Amino acid sequence: MTECSTICVFCGSSIRVDQVYRETAKEMGRIIGEARIDLVYGGGRVGLMGLVADAALSAGSRVTGIIPQFLKEREVDHPLLDELIITENMHTRKQLMYERANAFVSLPGGFGTFDETIEVLTWSQLGLLAKPIILVNVKGYWDPFVSLVRHAVDEGFTQTKHTEIMSVVDAPAGVLPLVGNQTTISPQIQI
Ligand code: AMP
Repeated sequence: MTECSTICVFCGSSIRVDQVYRETAKEMGRIIGEARIDLVYGGGRVGLMGLVADAALSAGSRVTGIIPQFLKEREVDHPLLDELIITENMHTRKQLMYERANAFVSLPGGFGTFDETIEVLTWSQLGLLAKPIILVNVKGYWDPFVSLVRHAVDEGFTQTKHTEIMSVVDAPAGVLPLVGNQTTISPQIQI
């Protein structure tokens, strides 16, 4: 497994969520920072996104935010990042995030997080990406999504081989072993 230098985290922009999700976001940021892995993300200072970025920055990551102009105008961008890239639109933002990362981590989130997670799965299926996609399934948040993916396989809409790029771990501690920066493998579910 090659060394992972940059992780892209997808996660919710809401902060009005269970404390366990907020703690997970901070822990994910801390783990990335302590491993001296760069973080790339949507560039916001709000919600879980802001918590991941703050924790990664204080633990030593170089953090890049990639935000579309219209969101920057709403002043939701994080002011303390090492790098803030402003894109014309959402499409360019996502493409740049996907290019820069060696691996993708999806923490709990809403439509934006679903969109980004499904998009990297779709691009992988099409052969445009070949980078690990890891769902952090704290509080069983991703269980319904995993069931839907299994349903798609059972019903013949998705091939099992196209789900193999995706792993599910119970907690942020399970992420690094799957991206090549540690040797111990923690419990995980391969879909
Ligand atoms: P959601 O899961 O619906 O809260 O959306 C979160 C995802 O969408 C993040 O990974 C971001 O890329 C993007 N996003 C949504 N809202 C914002 C925001 N206010 N600032 C920056 N990015 C956002």
